[in-house]
Order: sequence, then structure tokens, then C-alpha cells
Amino acid sequence: MAATSVARMANVLTGGCNCGAVRYEVSGPLTGATYCHCKRCQRRSGAAASPSAHPAPGTFRITKGEHVLRCWAPDDGGEKWFCSLCGSSIYAQRRDGSGTIGIRMGTFDNDPGVRPGSHVWCESAAAWEPIPDDGLPRYPRTTGAGVEPRTS
Ligand SMILES: [Zn+2]
Ligand SMILES: [Zn+2]
Repeated sequence: MAATSVARMANVLTGGCNCGAVRYEVSGPLTGATYCHCKRCQRRSGAAASPSAHPAPGTFRITKGEHVLRCWAPDDGGEKWFCSLCGSSIYAQRRDGSGTIGIRMGTFDNDPGVRPGSHVWCESAAAWEPIPDDGLPRYPRTTGAGVEPRTS
């Protein structure tokens, strides 16, 4: 393999669902990540909070299984895409044309390189698991910076 392709591949992040039907790649560094404590993320993931990482515009693409991806898009929220074969949540995307995407961090094959930098939708945080005292900023709803998909 040519040295240039090795260098290119080293910068490509990959991930996918539990059953392997859906695969994706991110061709550039992620710009950040967020813990979301909204009730919809709690139902979707079964967990108290859901961490999502944000790719730079145009760097995220589905490489396999687009036909088995399904989406739940509530009237007042973003599109939540998941594998229809195994149920794994893959990513969310705003519908306002901003192109902002949140990739579910647990679906990356390896360390995605970024760490969550804030907690959003803290007003609906689970009673049974306090938000950890990790020093990160907490927002009742969104950060207001438009970096996280509206998932609530
Ligand atoms: Zn799957
Ligand atoms: Zn959420």
C-alpha cells in the first residue's frame, strides 16, 4: 500500500452498528462532542445521557447499509437515524439545513479523538443518575451555539 493511502486512512474514523449492516466513515477531525440528557435520548439509548460527536461539514458519510437505515423525525426535533436490523442508534441530524450532525459516540470503532465538552438538556436529566461533577458546562436545553442536533 502506498504511503499516501496509509496516511489518508490514518485520518479516517470509522464506525457502525451492532449487526454490521451499517458502516460509516468520517474523513476529517471531529469538531466537538456533547452529552445530551433529553428524555428522547434516554428512551432511544436506555441510558441517562447520550454522547454525540460532531463532524465538520461534508466529512461524514454512510459507506454501507444506507437501505437499512431508518429515521424517526419528530415534528419538533431532529432526524434520529438507526439500523432497522439491530436497532443501533447511529446519528442525528438537524432539519434546518445547517448540516449539523451528531454521531453517537459509542458507535465509533476506535477512539474518535474528541471528548464531550458540555452537558445539554440538563432540565430533563434522569433522577436516578446525577450528572457527574466533571467541570463541564451545563445547559438547561441547548448550548445556543447550534453545535448539537436538536434531539429532544
Ligand atoms: Zn445493524
Ligand atoms: Zn437528546
